[in-house]
Parts: sequence; structure tokens; C-alpha cells
Amino acid sequence: MSDPLLEAAESLLPGDGIEGLYLHVPFCRKRCSYCAFHSQALPQDDQLLDDYALALSNRVRRLSKAGLLGDLRTIYLGGGTPSFLGARRLSGLIYMISLRVNLHDDTEFTLELNPDSFDRALLKDLWALGVNRYSVGVQSFDDAVLKRLGRIHDANKALDAIDMLRERDANFSVDLICGIPGQSMASWEESLQRVIDLGVPHVSVYPLSMEEGTPFAHAVESGTMPLPDDDLAADMMLLAHDMLQDAGLHHYEVASYARPGFESRHNLSYWKGAQYLGLGSSAASMLRKANLEALLDSGILAVEGDGAALDGIGAHDSLRLVCQQDATSIARSLGDVPMLVDLEHLDLRSSVIEQIMLRMRLFEALDPAWLPVLDAAVPKLLETLETLRREGLLDERFVPTGRGWLLGNRIYGSIWDLA
Ligand code: SF4
Repeated sequence: MSDPLLEAAESLLPGDGIEGLYLHVPFCRKRCSYCAFHSQALPQDDQLLDDYALALSNRVRRLSKAGLLGDLRTIYLGGGTPSFLGARRLSGLIYMISLRVNLHDDTEFTLELNPDSFDRALLKDLWALGVNRYSVGVQSFDDAVLKRLGRIHDANKALDAIDMLRERDANFSVDLICGIPGQSMASWEESLQRVIDLGVPHVSVYPLSMEEGTPFAHAVESGTMPLPDDDLAADMMLLAHDMLQDAGLHHYEVASYARPGFESRHNLSYWKGAQYLGLGSSAASMLRKANLEALLDSGILAVEGDGAALDGIGAHDSLRLVCQQDATSIARSLGDVPMLVDLEHLDLRSSVIEQIMLRMRLFEALDPAWLPVLDAAVPKLLETLETLRREGLLDERFVPTGRGWLLGNRIYGSIWDLA
């Protein structure tokens, strides 16, 4: 008799290869006041940036030698601020990638950039080396809001970066943040109108989240800044939804809007359960056992703690890895010693439940033909979905409604509780 969990996993999980490569660049010129991402502020001529970029290049070379990059469909340089590495270091790193990865016309290669560290000369080099998608950290087109966020650039600098990308007819995305104390609805509306007028093909919209240890969190604790107003943030998210959808950018994920064909394929692979490998300080990976074993055997990764950590792991289980090394230790090793990772094991049942939850982020209906299999695999799944539907959070096809989108954590929490 077939195992419903295995059947469900096979229906939800993509193929066996590593489809996404993420490279983390943990450096910025200046830390923003709200940011909890893993990065440190350094002068741009710091030797650590050279050594770190070289260490990442060496890791890519070793991965390729081990035959683990043959199925790549997307590459993403994120941070931190990858553009802060500058043309020389980025060229070296990307050249190594282009030598070692079989880049196809449809390989999506994204680089995150800060308008402060971006110019025509850098774009020309990146373009020539095969970077074909850019993610621009704009956050707002209102200088007062940018100042409050502690951003290093102003609105004009962001507009310059967007102009350069438009001149090349590039595929790019703009990040915007709402719900910032002091940000008015009129300021938010103006930022949304700007991305629409500029014809930006992809927009990510995030409500400000107060992260522990940031200058914003300290300001709230000391009473010098009010807490973000959740109701106002929800109204701003709704306005973004209405304006962007009306302008032809469809809402394809909780925080993401795109013109048809400009969806982020790299991020979609995360949400659709593809295997991806993250290199660099704090970078996360999601792999299955066979690929993890290959990475351990080739000495590219080492799991922290118990050497027998792979005992009892099934072929379809999901393995979430997070690199435990800081930038200095990665740079010092020049990428020649195994990258130390922390391992979290999601058994088959948890992996299937996580996939169902991720489908909710994408507003994707669960195939009705698969519902009985999923329900057999995860008892009480249908009952839970029905309850969420009765509460108005899911529609008839179990796709999140507008209310369900705003109260997404309630949906994800209820489904995750089944694990
Ligand atoms: S530039 Fe980006 S990564 Fe760097 S501190 Fe600001 S938000 Fe964080």
C-alpha cells in the first residue's frame, strides 16, 4: 500500500537537483535604523571585503568541481549590500560564477543593490557578466521618511538608479516599506504612484517590523519613537494592493507584485519547495538528504555538533541549514575549509505541511484532485482549512481572501499546528 505522506511529498516537491544558489554579502556602508539583517558597516576599501569575495568565489569553484551546480536555474546575490562590493570584487566573483555555472538564457541572475553604491559603470560590468535582474532597496521616495529609516541615499539617488535600469530596459524590482512612524498616507500613496509611473516591473511591499536590538526598537523602548500603528500599516498594504493591481502588477505572493512574466523566479523556488544552497555568513539553505551528503562528502559543508546528525533522515525530508560562521572566519579560510552549518530536520510530515503553508503565501489553490491524498497524509487538514474558510480567511478553493492575506499568520499558524 502506498504511503500517503510520500505521495503527498512527491506531488508537492520539485526534482532532485539544487535549483537556486544564494550568495550572502554581509556588508553595508552604513546600518539602517530598522534593519536586523546580518550585515556590518565597513569602509569600502576594507581588506575583509576582498577576502570575503574571494572566499565566495572559491566556494563556487569547489561546488562546481563537485558537480553540484548542474541544475541551477536561479542565482541571487543578496545582503547586506552586494553592490557595495564594487565593480572589481563583483566582477571577480561573477566571472567565477559564469565560468563554473552553465548560465542559460533563462537563468535568472539577481543582484541586490543600494542606490548609494550603484552607477552606470558598475551596471555596464554587471550587465556584460550576465546579471539580468536587479533588486533596488528604495523603501520610500520621501526624503523625510528615508532620513527616519536611516537610509544613506535620498529619493533622487534612488530615481537615478531606476533611470539607469530603465535605460537598459532591465528586469528589476523595487522594495518599499509602509507603516513607518511619521509616514503619512499621502507620502505612501506618492511612493506607490512613483513606481507605477516609472513602469517598475516588480514591487515588494513590506510593513515595518520592529526587530529586537535595532535603533528603532531602542527608540520605541525609550519612548522617543511611537510604536508603528498596525491599523495604519494594514490600510497602507490595502492601498498598495489596490493601486498596484489596478496598474497591472498582479499580487502573486504575500509581499510581491509583478507585471506578468516578471515574478521573481528565485523567490518562487523558495516558496515552491525547490532545493537551494546558500553560501556566506548566515546564509540559509534548504536541501534534501542526497545533496547534503554530497556537500559533506566533498568537504564544502560540515554540520555543527553531532557527526551522526544524518541518521534517521528520510530521502524526502527537508533539511534547513544556516551558516554559523561570521564574515571574518569565512574570509580567513578563503573558502577552502568546510562551511559550518546548523541543521534543522523537518520530517516528511512537517515538510508536507510546510509546502501546504507556502502555497497559501502564493494564493495558489490546492489541486482538488490532491485534497484526499493530502488529507490522508495530514489528518485534520481539511477540517482546519474548512474552519479557516468559515472564518472568511480562505475562499471556496482554499485560497487566502483579502482578509486572510492581512491575517496570514493566523492561517500559517493553524496549518503549522498540524505538524
Ligand atoms: S542597506 Fe539593507 S542590509 Fe544594509 S543596513 Fe540597510 S536595510 Fe540593512
